[in-house]
Amino acid sequence: MSAETKNFIAGKWVATGSTFDSVNPATGELVSRCAEASQQELDAAVAAACDAFPAWRKTPPPRRAEILFRVAELLKARKDDLARWITLEMGKVTMEARGDVQEAIDMARYMAGEGRRMFGHTAPSELPDKFCMSLRDPIGVVAVITPWNFPIAVPSWKILPAFVLGNTVVWKPSSDTPVCAAKFVEAFVEAGLPPGVLNLVLGKGAEIGDALVRHRDVRLVTFTGSNEVGHRVSVTAAETGKRCALEMGGKNAIIVLDDADLALAVDGIVWSAFGTSGQRCTAASRIIVHNTVRGPLTELLLERIKQLKIGNGLDPPTTVGPVINHAALEKFDRYVHIGLNEGARLLIGGERFSKGDCRRGCFYRPTVFDNVTPAMRIARDEIFGPVVCIIEAGSLEEAVAINNDVPYGLVSSIYTQNINRAFAAMRELTTGIVYVNAGTIGSEVQLPFGGTRGTGNGAREAGQAALDTFSEWKTVYVDYSGRLQRAQIDTETTTQKEPQNENSRTQISSVRPGPGKTAARIRG
Ligand code: NAD
Repeated sequence: MSAETKNFIAGKWVATGSTFDSVNPATGELVSRCAEASQQELDAAVAAACDAFPAWRKTPPPRRAEILFRVAELLKARKDDLARWITLEMGKVTMEARGDVQEAIDMARYMAGEGRRMFGHTAPSELPDKFCMSLRDPIGVVAVITPWNFPIAVPSWKILPAFVLGNTVVWKPSSDTPVCAAKFVEAFVEAGLPPGVLNLVLGKGAEIGDALVRHRDVRLVTFTGSNEVGHRVSVTAAETGKRCALEMGGKNAIIVLDDADLALAVDGIVWSAFGTSGQRCTAASRIIVHNTVRGPLTELLLERIKQLKIGNGLDPPTTVGPVINHAALEKFDRYVHIGLNEGARLLIGGERFSKGDCRRGCFYRPTVFDNVTPAMRIARDEIFGPVVCIIEAGSLEEAVAINNDVPYGLVSSIYTQNINRAFAAMRELTTGIVYVNAGTIGSEVQLPFGGTRGTGNGAREAGQAALDTFSEWKTVYVDYSGRLQRAQIDTETTTQKEPQNENSRTQISSVRPGPGKTAARIRG
């Protein structure tokens, strides 16, 4: 059977080689047969992106932005259709799938606005008749590598800022969500994006993804996914001399203090822990609760979990959809065993769900452990599913210390009614994102997104910070004095002899000071 979902290279949909299947995790049914990109197709995609770059970087940013505005309109018109494909390919419930698309719409509008901003800086010069400014330049061909859990939103955080800044893109989406990727590309094509500016290559990460990261004509790699793969990508990018922006895993916590509104906290916990079946990088997988409210909080939480409805994300009553695949189910089973062996107590869940129609898909019951200590593996490793640990703390200080003491640093949240404690927590929590009296999910596109420690490498997506990730600063000096002026030359006559080592002697002897000037301090 030939591929229905194809690669998109130099403005054309192409499928020449082998295929792979995209499968519905709720039913096990085939969603689409997809073309795997060959090495030649990858080379063609990168070559197309290189060829398109000179004209695209010279297209005025407000013109580039018009295409982004059109993309936003097209996504809005197709939200239901796109959301359906998201649910079919990765399982999240319709309401959340629509949110996935909405995030891309918001990002398209926000980044399109940058087409008329994209501010640089001017700074005064230390010399007369000289003007100084810094401007943003595109980087070149950007390799975009994305996961399956936000098949439209996460790519939009990368592709849209890359475009408005004048870069071209080769995108390798997760092999679990190729149809969503192709549908997203269709919106760009219809919006009038010139051929070669966006290219799509489908296939396995270890093959086509790795080859893309290695490609000598790629200038920036932007990756979102697991730590294991991200570290490999980072090493390859370093070895091949590329910039690299990484967004990786999380082990996010919600802290509930003794003065918290417990009903509100439970709302936040249920939404953050079991939304998208716990498969968000921002999902809450640790509840750090003050020991005096642990009993009532746990009781409320278990009551609420019993009301959750597991099922196909396309069925309206469903609140918890399937997980991505059988390998994920095996991982959750493994961690449940690890937790029990470590001495944690299983309060609910801990097993697959296979009632009725769910028997054909990949479903897992929302799972809660208590009696968890911060050193246990279930409290430290990213499980990336509907599995939550309750950890007790005796004070705000202890809760914050537990929160911060994991290898990840994406999100933390605190529930308290005390403003002093809230501000102390905002200062002490060492994650990239902090919520007060809200769960760990729900980021907005106008603010930076990303994590500390093992979650990332310092780059940020979204907001103004994304502009730094997808551009280079170019500093421009304009001397309109009509004579040679030397900056960074110390013109003060000094009687003190500067201490000289080998290096400073070499630097100074290579510069001829002007008449009456002493070349004593030279920096660049
Ligand atoms: P993954 O690491 O398995 O795959 C991510 C992408 O990398 C996929 O496109 C995959 O095909 C590709 N890939 C795999 N091996 C590769 C290689 N050797 N070279 C180049 N590319 C390769 O992750 P996943 O299972 O798709 O997604 C889940 C993970 O993503 C979780 O760890 C989650 O926390 C993380 N995530 C993080 C964020 C964030 O913003 N921090 C957002 C969403 C998901």
